[in-house]
Amino acid sequence: MQIVDAHEDIAWNVLALGRDVLRGVWETRRLEEGSDTTRHHGQCMVGLPEWLAGGVAVVVGTIFVAPAHSVSGPHLHTYYATAEEAHRLANAQMQTYRRLAERSERIELVEDQASLEDVLRSWEGEAPRVGIVLAMEGADPVRQPAEVEEWYRQGLRVVGLAWAAGSRYAGGDRRPGPLTAEGRELLRAMAAVGVVADLSHISEEAFWEVVERYDGPLVATHANPRAIVDGPRHLSDAMLHALAEREGVVGIVPYNRFLRPGWVRGDSREEVTLGHVAAAVDHVCQLVGDAAHVGLGSDFDGGFGAESSPTGIETVADLGKIAQVLAERGYAAEDIVAVMGGNWLRVLRTALPPD
Ligand SMILES: [Zn+2]
Repeated sequence: MQIVDAHEDIAWNVLALGRDVLRGVWETRRLEEGSDTTRHHGQCMVGLPEWLAGGVAVVVGTIFVAPAHSVSGPHLHTYYATAEEAHRLANAQMQTYRRLAERSERIELVEDQASLEDVLRSWEGEAPRVGIVLAMEGADPVRQPAEVEEWYRQGLRVVGLAWAAGSRYAGGDRRPGPLTAEGRELLRAMAAVGVVADLSHISEEAFWEVVERYDGPLVATHANPRAIVDGPRHLSDAMLHALAEREGVVGIVPYNRFLRPGWVRGDSREEVTLGHVAAAVDHVCQLVGDAAHVGLGSDFDGGFGAESSPTGIETVADLGKIAQVLAERGYAAEDIVAVMGGNWLRVLRTALPPD
């Protein structure tokens, strides 16, 4: 079974936190013991050895930048005040992914169907490779809408118009608002190149406008059902239906705060189990009537660490345990394969250029 994780802020961890993702998680934790990084961002969960051990064949890696007004604390040098700064930071992240692929034979940037199949086939042999698909979380680094074409040429395949704090293009979950005129223009430019639109974090108002205006593929790489934890960060049943109708997929985030109402950082991990993850997956399946529109989008090391993940998930290598709880819940083998990665692979096979 091949696992696809639709959301990891890999380059941000490398550049902002100095984490070498080629290193194992336990080594990173040892190096970070007692550090500010662990205190603010949690215990590291992602590393190449863990992807390989856990059968994580494909990861959607973000180019994540956030406006400086939206954050506080350390690492402020990694945030932007202007589109130009956002562009520079995002470019550095793009280069970081290229360097990772150069440094390790076990990492391949997936830009087309041919390289995706190549990566998947590598798992039949002795030296499996992890494929990384590049996604932009918050589109401010695209200085003008037409520039999305250049980003696409460089390998970007998924674009989220806004992160939580919103962008020049759209409102976000913490800063509601519609699509702007530039946002509508960006959608037209995205449609022209055939990029996947990521609706995670976008404000509800802008969500519906994208659904109406965008003909290209729609997904939510990392969001959970509002029916489980309410709030603008998550998706209502109507939004989940809309995604499914468009053959989209939503990536469930195994983050305790998103799985159990009222859970806050510092609460016991024991209160949240793999069963909560299965319940979030199951909500989507029951709602839309099949297991074809939900997957995983861990967001591990994206603002939370192991202490905020369900009991039993210590690193990204444990994602496979979700398959076991789905089986215990009575899911058929082919549905489990779909949820663990097959659904994301369907989206990628449709959306990526042939070669
Ligand atoms: Zn996010």
